[in-house]
Amino acid sequence: MGERPELVLATANPDKAREIAEILGPAVRLVGRPAGLGEVEETGETLWDNARLKAAAVAAFAGAGAVADDTGLEVDALGGAPGVLSARYAGPGATYADNVAALLAALDGVPPAARTARFRTVALVRWPDGSEAVGVGVVEGSITTEARGDQGFGYDPVFAPVGGNGRTFAEMSSEDKHRLSHRGRAFEQLAAILRRKFDERG
Ligand code: IMP
Repeated sequence: MGERPELVLATANPDKAREIAEILGPAVRLVGRPAGLGEVEETGETLWDNARLKAAAVAAFAGAGAVADDTGLEVDALGGAPGVLSARYAGPGATYADNVAALLAALDGVPPAARTARFRTVALVRWPDGSEAVGVGVVEGSITTEARGDQGFGYDPVFAPVGGNGRTFAEMSSEDKHRLSHRGRAFEQLAAILRRKFDERG
């Protein structure tokens, strides 16, 4: 077994940080985002661009490997929106509740069979020398007609994943969510890449 990699968290979102730590477990030593670094603007056109922008800024600032997560919700009846703009769907400074309300309003009258959607996460590690490791995770599901459950965060109360027995992510324990979720899959993939990389050295 090689050394346990240390990575600086590039995400400023405490809900994401908690999930990343739960999914990666003891395989990685996670260090909190440096307090002195301002917010990194997510100006990229894709989840990959934004994950790279966040990880590269933190890697340069901290002089160490940094791990970022960029996630989008793609709703088929909305032509794939909100996608890369998921955090700002209801406008700048939108809360989770604002975004959920805007999504339900946009899908008003759309029948259950046409409410298909997916979450996609790009999990990306960037080291100061410019090298990278990337994991991608997708979960298919559908948007419910009303919010259900109080676990999780973001769009979880209105997203029912395939394989979840009709429950929304917000009606599941975090273990059940991570087993099915976009983030669970992306970070498991990333962890496998890191294990290979660090086991080779160790
Ligand atoms: P970003 O990845 O920071 O650009 O934000 C994506 C937005 O999607 C967040 O503001 C959340 O509202 C939402 N989001 C990200 N991950 C999840 C999740 O696991 N469940 C529900 N909503 C999520």
